Amino acid sequence: MTTPQSWEARADEYSLYGFTDLPSVHERGAVILTHGEGPYVVDVNGKRYLDANSGLWNMVAGFDNKDLADAAKAQYDRFPGYHAFFGRMSDQTVLLSEKLVEVSPYDRGRVFYTNSGSEANDTMVKILWFLHGSEDKPKRRKILTRWNAYHGVTVVSASMTGKPYNEVFGLPLDGFIHLTCPHYWRFGKDGETEEAFTQRLADELEETIKREGADTIAGFFAEPVMGAGGVIPPSKGYFQAIAPILKKYDIPLISDEVICGFGRTGNTWGCETYGFTPDAIISSKNLTAGLFPMGAVILGPELADRVQAAVEKIEEFPHGFTASGHPVGCAIALKAIEVVMKGGLADNVRRLAPRMEAGLRAIMDRSNNIGELRGVGFMWALEAVKDKATKTPFDSSLSVSERIANTCTDLGLICRPLGQSIVLCPPFILTEDQMDEMFEKLEQALNKVFAEVA
Ligand SMILES: *Cc1c(COP(=O)(O)O)cnc(C)c1O
Repeated sequence: MTTPQSWEARADEYSLYGFTDLPSVHERGAVILTHGEGPYVVDVNGKRYLDANSGLWNMVAGFDNKDLADAAKAQYDRFPGYHAFFGRMSDQTVLLSEKLVEVSPYDRGRVFYTNSGSEANDTMVKILWFLHGSEDKPKRRKILTRWNAYHGVTVVSASMTGKPYNEVFGLPLDGFIHLTCPHYWRFGKDGETEEAFTQRLADELEETIKREGADTIAGFFAEPVMGAGGVIPPSKGYFQAIAPILKKYDIPLISDEVICGFGRTGNTWGCETYGFTPDAIISSKNLTAGLFPMGAVILGPELADRVQAAVEKIEEFPHGFTASGHPVGCAIALKAIEVVMKGGLADNVRRLAPRMEAGLRAIMDRSNNIGELRGVGFMWALEAVKDKATKTPFDSSLSVSERIANTCTDLGLICRPLGQSIVLCPPFILTEDQMDEMFEKLEQALNKVFAEVA
């Protein structure tokens, strides 16, 4: 469909596309966008799409929020950039750290800034390695995560990510251990109850700790709901089963809240939704409602004290990014937290989550090829199956989820294919009418593609 000199052809000539299905983009051309209106984005041809992906989970306040843009512009006028090294930092950085601890599950804590979620996870790993070294436990370096987890793309965070695609980079690094994904529908055994499944995963964790030696493990990282793994909420009682085991062996539990944080699950934090208190929180994406690249490590009181004591010993923590705590990013984040948590956006998620679930469940019930609906708040996935009863997936050569997503794009709806599932995580400003538009277009696409492949 590309003509010479079209936007699509120019993108094709000069871009090394990341996380992009090349057969689709070669056949269809990339979608080149110019601007957005509420939850919609508009391409160079003037076509409008309802972005049921919130950009990449992060544009939770939509694409034209004036309060956020104004906060950015005002800060660019006042003090457009600074770092946080050598005992200097912007006033906005101080204000945001205070605010992040205030809205965290902790009564005290410390915050460290990065430019992305990947770097925040990397930073957390460095903090743990540094801490254990300082406390005379230098062997505590292994990191535990789960298969299907997504923690980012830098060398360490990609090693934490539990996806086979990292093999092309020769990753994971040694010492990154992946435990079973807590997806009961897919990984539960025949006749195994959900409770028994959860217990099996808890047992696996304890056996792994004993096998590797607790004194070799630096920390355990988990997303409350796995996002890029395909929206996988934990099995029943999962965090209640694993948290005491981690505690018993002095292994810090880190909640990667890059997607779940700031309202996606209906509460401020995903750990709140699932009833556990981590030792530290990783935030990014929603932190600035997608308007600025920024991540944060939020240490709870115990880790904050231990890390601070370790830093005092050597008088300086040798880590930081040039743009850590950037004043514009901090000013945007302060406004985003206000807009999302106090301005009615998180309330809208809580109010409309049951409606979203019900609408998607009705679509599932009308289809022979949706095996599971899973999610919480404003993050849901429908899993395509060839056979509902046996949960048999479609042949992967059919690229069913890509075809569904491409058909949705044709209809003016952006959603994301992940494995054999379709992910829907709309901006928090979504209205009832826009939700209905999402249901209608999605079902139309599902019917068309299932008729072709079933
Ligand atoms: C997106 C994501 C990351 C990585 O964030 P980047 O800003 O893309 O580096 C880490 N963890 C989770 C849970 C994510 O969804």
